[in-house]
Amino acid sequence: MFIATQYRRKRFQSNEKELKNLEEITLDRDEKGEILPTIQNFYRFCGHGRLMALKCIECEKLLIPPRIICPQCSSHKFKWIQLSGKGKLRTFSFIHIAPKQFSSQAPYIIGIVKLEEGLSLSGRIIVDKDVKLEIGMDLIVEFEDVVSAGWPQWPRYYFRLAKVIEQ
Ligand SMILES: [Zn+2]
Repeated sequence: MFIATQYRRKRFQSNEKELKNLEEITLDRDEKGEILPTIQNFYRFCGHGRLMALKCIECEKLLIPPRIICPQCSSHKFKWIQLSGKGKLRTFSFIHIAPKQFSSQAPYIIGIVKLEEGLSLSGRIIVDKDVKLEIGMDLIVEFEDVVSAGWPQWPRYYFRLAKVIEQ
């Protein structure tokens, strides 16, 4: 059996206090100590193994990745919430001709995932070569262990199959 699910669960169960300390060091905050709704903070949360969205305080719309203004009500008051990281594959395509920084990794798969919380997020889909992807497959977010050389210089997220298919 594949052990990645257990591995992930373990990571998400890590001590809240420990995470808080890490975030205090790395997250950008305003003068009141609120965590700023920036893309940098989004990736820093990824670096702590957390997929986070912004929730508009006025209209409760969820945003991922973050924006400065709510597209639904123009508010700029948000709070960060942690997402489950689970979703279903909505669409995908194989990238054969990639931007320069990813060309060594081509061909690779980019997809759009409908997350459990109702919002959609695009990202890399990483599966074994013999896996045939299908719309509606259950996926789960993971985070790179290595820091990328280019921007954002924080671990990126990607999606993998939630369950490994028995061959
Ligand atoms: Zn709003």
